[in-house]
Amino acid sequence: MKNTIHRIALIGFGTVGQSLAKIIAAKNADLKQLRHTELRIVAIATPGKGSLYHPDGLDISALFTALEKDGTFAGYPDSAGLERGMDNLPLIRDTNADTVVEVSHTDMNSGQPALDHCRTALAHGKNVVTSNKGPVALAYADLSALAAANGVRFLFESTVTAGTPSLRLARRALAGNEITEMRGILNGTTNFILSEMEAGKSYADALAQAQSLGYAEADPTADVEGIDALAKVLIIANTVMGCALKKDEISCRGISHLTADDIAAAKAAGKRWKLIGQVKKAGGQTTASVQPVLLPLSDPLAQVMGTTNAVTYRTDLLGDVTLIGAGAGGIETAAGLLADILAI
Ligand code: NDP
Repeated sequence: MKNTIHRIALIGFGTVGQSLAKIIAAKNADLKQLRHTELRIVAIATPGKGSLYHPDGLDISALFTALEKDGTFAGYPDSAGLERGMDNLPLIRDTNADTVVEVSHTDMNSGQPALDHCRTALAHGKNVVTSNKGPVALAYADLSALAAANGVRFLFESTVTAGTPSLRLARRALAGNEITEMRGILNGTTNFILSEMEAGKSYADALAQAQSLGYAEADPTADVEGIDALAKVLIIANTVMGCALKKDEISCRGISHLTADDIAAAKAAGKRWKLIGQVKKAGGQTTASVQPVLLPLSDPLAQVMGTTNAVTYRTDLLGDVTLIGAGAGGIETAAGLLADILAI
């Protein structure tokens, strides 16, 4: 059986993009043998590292060798057919990539520049696979319509719970069920901080530890004030539960006001504070929120500690279904991108 060659353009080559490249290098032989599919990275663009395009594919180990030298693609070896320095939009539009993998930074206000990257790709008949929450949270309806009009796919499993398949579970495995409610631990940083506070740390010390381990940014606002979880609630509501919610329709409160005393009082009462993202449909109304919730220990979400994420879907046919797994990390997020690419 002949192998199908699937050509990929990567927009962004940070933690997640580089992890995807490493996975492709490690798994291509198996993918060829088991799935008759060969993945080829033909193009990459980032503002700081530069851009490269070769229609026959780039050499992944040479990419990393070049980055080791000076952090850019300047040292990538020249060869016939190699183009350097293409801007993002021409690279998305005019190369032979079948799929654009959008892994640039998230902007939850404008969705840019990722939104333009996604629109350009879909409008020019390229599939889009992304871990970037901005375009999905802010423009899912438009982008999925554009994909359908152009006969291509718009897939974004990694935007929620990284490669742990919380979206695919609902969209595929629970097909035929009505999902009436979703509750989730959708941000690993805050769950880590709450777990450390229960072990005896103050909020400030737990946050400092999350920062030193690379779980929280220097500016932790998006995590601790619930903004990252809100983006994921929006994505689940709109892509899985058929809602058409906007950002400002979701009430949002983070964990920064919780004190060591609050955590200790919950523990003494046999309960646990968790930052819960929720979407609930009842009587024709949808409500959605992100807020700390005091859970009994019998709730499966109460047992999820550290950076782990979890989602419980309430369904009409199966009752509650809970999925627990990794919610961040380069390889874990790239695993979701790979699953989307293979789904295409
Ligand atoms: P990084 O910050 O490590 O990398 C971001 C990349 O985007 C860098 O390569 C950067 O370029 C590039 N970039 C910035 N602006 C542009 C632009 N205008 N055009 C092209 N590339 C650009 O982020 P991650 O790899 O960690 O994350 C990638 C995406 O995945 C983000 O949207 C993030 O929110 C999402 N995500 C990440 C998870 C994680 O655990 N890391 C989990 C789930 C989702 P340069 O290299 O030149 O600086």
